[in-house]
Amino acid sequence: MRYIICNSATYYNNGINTDSHDNNNLVSARYPVRISKYYAGLIKRPYDGIWKQCMPDTRELEDISQVPDPLEEKKLSPVPGLIHRYPDRVVLLVSNRCPVYCRFCMRKRLVGSGDAPMGKADLSNALKYIEAHSEIRDVILSGGDPLMLDDTSLSIILAGLRAIPHVAVIRIGTRIPVTLPERITPDLCRLFRKFHPLYINTHFNHPDEITVDSSNACAMLADAGIPLGNQTVLLKGVNDSVEIMRRLLTGLLALRVKPYYLHQIDLVQGTAHFRTSVQTGMKIMRGLRGHISGLAVPHYVIDLPGGKGKVAILPDDFEVKGNVLQLRTYTGERVSYQDITDSHF
Ligand SMILES: *Cc1c(COP(=O)(O)O)cnc(C)c1O
Ligand code: SF4
Repeated sequence: MRYIICNSATYYNNGINTDSHDNNNLVSARYPVRISKYYAGLIKRPYDGIWKQCMPDTRELEDISQVPDPLEEKKLSPVPGLIHRYPDRVVLLVSNRCPVYCRFCMRKRLVGSGDAPMGKADLSNALKYIEAHSEIRDVILSGGDPLMLDDTSLSIILAGLRAIPHVAVIRIGTRIPVTLPERITPDLCRLFRKFHPLYINTHFNHPDEITVDSSNACAMLADAGIPLGNQTVLLKGVNDSVEIMRRLLTGLLALRVKPYYLHQIDLVQGTAHFRTSVQTGMKIMRGLRGHISGLAVPHYVIDLPGGKGKVAILPDDFEVKGNVLQLRTYTGERVSYQDITDSHF
């Protein structure tokens, strides 16, 4: 069996129990719980960085100050399953299932719900919408995890998109290399090769997720010519330290995975206990630039509530006095830089 549906005290046979499984039943009644056997096997001890990402916690039910859909994705959805927020790119929610239901998920309102994933009619309407909007150049498959679909369904979606001439780039957002690496098969890689330029953004959050299996899954995708990026969510108690983040990001780079975004966690109901301050995020960013390979440094972004879009946050080590910039180097030294005034004709 690939999945463990966790409603009881014993999650798998390595002796880790939780104190109170009644509470976990309450949580899972509201927010589905699922942990792949593989991912469960990465837990080294209770409450470690892997545990916290996947084990239900009663604090999920206590968070009532935040709303289920702060990014107003529903409002930005002209047809079911499609989010059109930016002019030239759209997100397609092609699946509502994942091998692991991450407790901090930004689509907590949708994942694992009883709603069917995008059906035939929805897909056809979404493709028609993309076809009718020639400004759309980039389509991002998301969910849920798109790679929970079987190869045939994926191939139908990808072929449908490739039949639209103005769709230049297809991206897939998936946590499968991290949560169910065995899903990355030679067949799947062969299928992907037919739909280039295809990009994959995966989702590693903790260095313990870098294993032989996840490394092999990334290598197979990279060998299929797919540029790999990574989106990490900044999570309290999981990866909110410079040391853990450095290990994660440099580890990813060694897998040919380019760290793309470090996300400030969205204000999604049920996830407040994972939230860190933006100050913490900036402190971590300061601990990256200059200290580790620049290729391993992601953009730190806040996806603003109300569907206003992502904004990049830079550490505030920058002062402008007339034509002189006061900059701070990675070692903390203050250095002036003489700027010029551009002349315009
Ligand atoms: C993040 C996001 C995108 C992609 O943004 P990029 O900055 O191009 O990666 C597109 N649409 C929506 C709705 C998004 O949330
Ligand atoms: S894999 Fe992604 S979509 Fe699925 S639960 Fe985790 S964060 Fe959410």
